[in-house]
Amino acid sequence: MRISFDLDDTLICYQPGALHEPGRPPWWLRPWVREPLRLGAAGLLRDLAAAGHDLWVYTTSYRGPVAVRWWLWCHGVRLGGVVNQAAHERRVGRRGPSKVPARFGIDLHVDDSWGVWVENGGAGVCVVRPDDPDWADSVRAAVARVGRNQRPAAPPDLPEAYRHLAG
Ligand SMILES: [Mg+2]
Repeated sequence: MRISFDLDDTLICYQPGALHEPGRPPWWLRPWVREPLRLGAAGLLRDLAAAGHDLWVYTTSYRGPVAVRWWLWCHGVRLGGVVNQAAHERRVGRRGPSKVPARFGIDLHVDDSWGVWVENGGAGVCVVRPDDPDWADSVRAAVARVGRNQRPAAPPDLPEAYRHLAG
């Protein structure tokens, strides 16, 4: 299946105490590849790729798609596609939901925002908190659920007003 990942506060975490993958990019890529990758992401992404999944990034930032590809390539991950804010606006428009994974053929999107989960009615969105050390296991569980045509679990911090969407 096609699985996309948010960047800020999902694959890229800067909060105090945030843990990052070790390793530095080759010197000739350092001008473009500067950001740390969240601990656990490299193994998770490599495992998902090895299982045949098509990995994408879907970000509301304007980071350049080529730089995002190189950044993950430094960690042994080859992306199938990158949707940044510019690409999102071309396909979805400037108004409306912030992310619509289904418009890009994405079966499961991983994000830190429960708002993205709500925007998509709880379908095909896995929410992981930036401070969750077990986040990769949550993603693996969500992949398994979507593979069984089930919805990912509701976000742990979903406000009461949206609980009815969790079914
Ligand atoms: Mg985010």
